[in-house]
Amino acid sequence: MATIIDGKALAQKIRSNLKIECDELKSRGILPKLAVILVGNDSASKIYVRNKNRACEEVGIEFEEYILNSDITQDELINLINSLNSKKDVHGILLQSPIPNHLDINQAFRTIAPDKDVDGFNPLNVGKLTLGQDTFVSCTPYGVIKMFEEYNIDLSGKNLTIIGRSNIVGKPLIQCCLNKNATVTICHSKTKDLKEHTKNADIVICAIGKAKFITEDMIKEGAVIIDVGINRTEEGKLVGDVDFQNVEKKASYITPVPGGVGPMTITMLMNNVIKAAKQLNM
Ligand code: NAD
Repeated sequence: MATIIDGKALAQKIRSNLKIECDELKSRGILPKLAVILVGNDSASKIYVRNKNRACEEVGIEFEEYILNSDITQDELINLINSLNSKKDVHGILLQSPIPNHLDINQAFRTIAPDKDVDGFNPLNVGKLTLGQDTFVSCTPYGVIKMFEEYNIDLSGKNLTIIGRSNIVGKPLIQCCLNKNATVTICHSKTKDLKEHTKNADIVICAIGKAKFITEDMIKEGAVIIDVGINRTEEGKLVGDVDFQNVEKKASYITPVPGGVGPMTITMLMNNVIKAAKQLNM
């Protein structure tokens, strides 16, 4: 039976430490602040923003929300980002995705000042990650790396397969795991014979968004399984991409959904806001 990687408990531990750091900044007159831009009415996005607000409250970070109509122009969005870039009391800026199709999200991410880019989506920060330089690492991959560290799972020389190549999870994970000396394979919807790549892996990270996609026959005995996926079943239950019940019997470590990668993602956002507040006040 696998050891369950408890993302909820680890997230709590990191948040307690962040609260201490936040209090310390406040005692120096620095009030760490996150500004979140929400465009339109997407109900899932509203929930994500609400959860970020709660996490900020827990750590003591100020939270400012900018809710924009879905018919906002690109210029209006860019002007808002520029005004937040120049506000001295704002340390982190986050544009909640998705945004409506008529808007250019890449230009928006490019506009967020790199030193306030707490999601790590500005191309400058993506480039720094690629070069192994200190930067804001996007929150989900960063959370996954923290889990490996907490559970002393050494990536060096391990065969590690990532499934999913999104800009926010799969691609930054490649660099994060390479930086830890893993031998990284990245798979996606066009991969032929996915099982060949998962069976050969000491560590599998799955981020595709398909319930019970990873089954026990796809992994090797004793593999470490990280499940990034979030799916809702017809009964309304939250599940990951991994057939947890069966895979758990064969893996050495496994993350649950909920209570695995999810709580770590928001926690690493809090971490990045505190880091930004410190760096902007050095
Ligand atoms: P996405 O939805 O942008 O893309 C999905 C990826 O999966 C693509 O790269 C695609 O090539 C790959 N894929 C799809 N079907 C496949 C198949 N049959 N075989 C191999 N690869 C396949 O990805 P995303 O935004 O990274 O989200 C992935 C999942 O992770 C979603 O369930 C999302 O909700 C979840 N997620 C969770 C967190 C968290 O904090 N836990 C954060 C971000 C995303």
